Amino acid sequence: MQQVAILGATGSIGKSTLDVIARHPDRFKVHVLTANTAVDELAALCRQFRPRIACISNENAAIELRRLIQDSGLNTEILTGPDSLVQAVIQPEVDCVVAAIVGAAGLAATLAAANAGKRILLANKEALVMAGPIFMDAVRASGSILLPIDSEHNAIFQCLPYENSRTLQQKGVRKVVLTASGGPFRQRQRDELSRVTPDEACAHPNWVMGRKISVDSATMMNKALEIIEAHWLFDASSEQIEVVIHPQSVIHSMVEYADASVIAQLGNPDMRTPIAQALSYPDRIESGVYSLDLASIGTLTFERPDMDRFPSLRIAYEALAAGGTAPTIMNAANEIAVAAFLNLRLPFLRITDVIEETLSLVDVATIRCLDDVLIADKIARECATNLISELKVNAA
Ligand code: NAD
Ligand code: MG
Repeated sequence: MQQVAILGATGSIGKSTLDVIARHPDRFKVHVLTANTAVDELAALCRQFRPRIACISNENAAIELRRLIQDSGLNTEILTGPDSLVQAVIQPEVDCVVAAIVGAAGLAATLAAANAGKRILLANKEALVMAGPIFMDAVRASGSILLPIDSEHNAIFQCLPYENSRTLQQKGVRKVVLTASGGPFRQRQRDELSRVTPDEACAHPNWVMGRKISVDSATMMNKALEIIEAHWLFDASSEQIEVVIHPQSVIHSMVEYADASVIAQLGNPDMRTPIAQALSYPDRIESGVYSLDLASIGTLTFERPDMDRFPSLRIAYEALAAGGTAPTIMNAANEIAVAAFLNLRLPFLRITDVIEETLSLVDVATIRCLDDVLIADKIARECATNLISELKVNAA
């Protein structure tokens, strides 16, 4: 029986994870559930899964959650406050941590899970992008098993032999190929994008996801983050990471070997497949996802990404080349710009402008410790916030 902690249980990945877990009560027991503010939803999940611990960030929400839990006659302990997520994941009973909080908010707890040697199912790509070297050092030092559930990286993981000790080159890998759907604006010209609304940006053609990652998919910053995620997960250089647009999202990614064999992982676009693969690894379990019906899909198509219309991929390769805190700065500026776009304070096309401008203004530092990451994150957030308020003044 695996005891599971789900960080971000009320989100899109959290709910897909619980859907898979509910199908296998003989294999998994939920030990921890966490949410940011969604009290009623978290209380309902506690009634269904009866975790030992539930965390909610907001103190007032915690009071309400305690009342709901008491009224339900549950003995779930409610934790709140800045350190509560870390306290919850490092509990000795916890075997496996599903990192499904969105953005930098997930870093401390995910890193704590890595330091504590837990098995980590990583959806929270921002944590890895912002603190890559620290995170991977923690995983290596503690012997933690890190399993990607981002669909592309999970696909690559499935296409690679599982041996941490050998480099990609020793495994005979020429490159990894990340597929990208191209998002909802794949066929729009740049000038058509100036007035798009948050709801249009969040209407992804193939995947139902949280709003931040949906905007990231529309700007293709999601693929930018995934390039850096692949760099850390698979120790792949920029030259070994390629992106191809594949609008149907049936091939989730590929690995090309030295002999030019290309191995791909296919499936319906449903996150329960990578989640089930990682939850049960190295076994395989039922995920609730329908079989792939290739005959009814008919055609799979591919395109080269257009770096002029979508500069995000170029930004990611440049950040990787710059190294150090450049990816941290890129991620922080993106989080600030996306929040401003969702709050109608920044036009869609300005999101990548703010990221590039922030990268040009904030000095890149070497990452030696977590503080280097946190300082770069803070400075980049301040810089991006100032740029956005200046843009507003200019636009007025
Ligand atoms: P979501 O917005 O649906 O859910 C986010 C979860 O994080 C919620 O439970 C929320 O309560 C919690 N949360 C948000 N801010 C928090 C904070 N400050 N402190 C504590 N908890 C907080 O997001 P999602 O779509 O489930 O994405 C989660 C992560 O998974 C992201 O990093 C995303 O990039 C990654 N991911 C998502 C998908 C997908 O299909 N949704 C696919 C691949 C990767
Ligand atoms: Mg992905």
